[in-house]
Amino acid sequence: MDWNLRGCARKGHLTYAPTEDDLRERLRAATPAGEAWRCLRCADFVVGSPHAGGPADEAPLVLRGRALRDATVLRLLAVERGLRGLVLVALAYGVVRFRSSQASLRETFDRALPAAKPLQDTIHINVTDSAVVSRVQELLRSQPHTLTLIAVGLLAYGLLELLEAVGLFLLQRWGEYVAAVGTAVFLPLEVYELSHKVTVLKAVAFVINVAAVLYLVLTKRLFGVRGGRAAFDAERESASLLEVEAAALATT
Ligand SMILES: [Zn+2]
Repeated sequence: MDWNLRGCARKGHLTYAPTEDDLRERLRAATPAGEAWRCLRCADFVVGSPHAGGPADEAPLVLRGRALRDATVLRLLAVERGLRGLVLVALAYGVVRFRSSQASLRETFDRALPAAKPLQDTIHINVTDSAVVSRVQELLRSQPHTLTLIAVGLLAYGLLELLEAVGLFLLQRWGEYVAAVGTAVFLPLEVYELSHKVTVLKAVAFVINVAAVLYLVLTKRLFGVRGGRAAFDAERESASLLEVEAAALATT
C-alpha cells in the first residue's frame, strides 16, 4: 500500500509553487487541460493552480518519514492526554455528586467492600488493602469543603490535560509547551507517590511522562534547548526545501 497515495486520497494533493525559478519550472507542467503542478506528497502532476506558493523553505511539510513519525508520537500522546483529561473531569463530577450525598455514599462504599470479599478470595487480590480503595475511603471521609477543593483541583487538572491533548493533536508549538510544562510539574508528585509505594502502573506512567518531557524539549527544542526556536525553524525549513527539491527531481 502506498501511504503517500492514501494521504492524497484522504486530504487531496499538496501542490506548491516555489518562488525559486529552477524549482518552479521543474514542479510545473503545461498540459492540454491547463497548467499542472507536482504534488509534494505523491509527486504526481495535478491539473489546476497550486494550493500555495512561496519560498521553497516555507513549503508545508508533508507528514512522511521523520515528520510522520514525529506527528504520530505527538498524536498518540494527545490521545493519552485526552483520555486522562476526560477521566479527571468525570472524577471531578463524581466528587461533586459525592459531596451532596456524602453520608449515604460512604455507607454504600463500606457495605460494598465486604460484599466484594468472595470475589477477592477467588482472584487472590486483596481489594480492601489496595491504595485506590483507601484513597477513595479517605476522600469520602473528607469535609464537604475539602471535597469542593478536590473537585476543583481534579477539574483544573482534567482541563489542562484536555488543553494539552488539543495542542498536541493539532501539532502546535504552544501545545508542546503546555504539555512539557504540564507534565513536568507533576513529576515531583509522581516521585513522591513512587517513594510511597511502587506499582507497575505508577512506574510505567512515570517512565512515559519523563520520556514525553525529554522528547518534547529535545526534539522540539523548547526553552532554547539545542538552539531553541531559531534552530527548530532552520531544521524545519531545510526539511521543506529538501522536500521541494525531492519533488522537483522525482520522475513519474
Ligand atoms: Zn498527491
